[in-house]
Amino acid sequence: MDSAPTLDAIRTATIEAHRAFQDLREGQNASYIPVLARVKPERFGLVVMTPDGQLAEAGDTRSEFAVESISKVFTLARVLDELGARTLRQKVGDNPTGESFSSVHALVVHDGRPLNPFVNAGAIATVSLVPAASAAERWEKIHATMSAFAGRPLPVMEEVYRSEAATNQHNRALAWLLDSAHTLYSDPMEATDVYTRQCSVGITTHDLAVMGATLAAGGINPLTRQRAVKAAHVPRILAEMTMNGLYDNTGTWQYEVGLPAKSGVGGGLLAVVPGRLAIAAFSPPLDRFGNSVRAQHAIRRLSDELGLNLFATASH
Ligand code: GLU
Repeated sequence: MDSAPTLDAIRTATIEAHRAFQDLREGQNASYIPVLARVKPERFGLVVMTPDGQLAEAGDTRSEFAVESISKVFTLARVLDELGARTLRQKVGDNPTGESFSSVHALVVHDGRPLNPFVNAGAIATVSLVPAASAAERWEKIHATMSAFAGRPLPVMEEVYRSEAATNQHNRALAWLLDSAHTLYSDPMEATDVYTRQCSVGITTHDLAVMGATLAAGGINPLTRQRAVKAAHVPRILAEMTMNGLYDNTGTWQYEVGLPAKSGVGGGLLAVVPGRLAIAAFSPPLDRFGNSVRAQHAIRRLSDELGLNLFATASH
């Protein structure tokens, strides 16, 4: 058996991985959400956190960016906790679509079933499943869960929210398609609006590492020691991340890196090594699939350096 990397080794590897890719000039900010296109492309943060809260960090780790699709992980956690895995699987699903994250085609060919909670249709359906008497209550529950994972009350980036709400016609169309197939469980425009708000939550790379370390610790936040999700659901969340976390390039990611991960078009990327650590990276320029270029490079390098690939039997 390999021994786990020491904190010193993790700190050295984190600083080196940040240094190795900070001057890389590949990729482009998300442009379909106007406000995201204006975030400084040179921003780059990298944080590793262990389940007991030990920390390694480099670069821009304490300024906020939009969580975007990574929010889907935490709404999934909320619905699993409140309704259980069977309901989630029946109503949303647990398999890749093989198509882009906002595909209408994928929805139509599967009779309105979104197949998983990380494509936009599946994420809007997951929001609609949160038991609530009003949109405000639904939002409060989602916000409370994200904040429990982060260990602090997370802000909404109002400018991001306004920009997305003014340009989310495609997501509204997905919600109406779900509704017409009876695979949406609250009012379509309300579900889309709560979804848009959850995507506009501001997190730092440090927050994202705490959220990931909570998953790595089986659901207990390493800073607050509070439970954010039932332990039984963590493997299910990580399975979704393994299958669907990096849009339609997830298979390539697993082939090369071998870690459950979730990206967002704000430039965040979170990878989890169960029981051992979480790696959070943030940098706005994205590849053609919508995944942060620097974040992927940095996490891949840390995984190689520290022997983290879950499918490997020994570090190499
Ligand atoms: N709010 C964005 C959308 O719905 C999030 C997309 C993402 O990060 O994948 O298009």
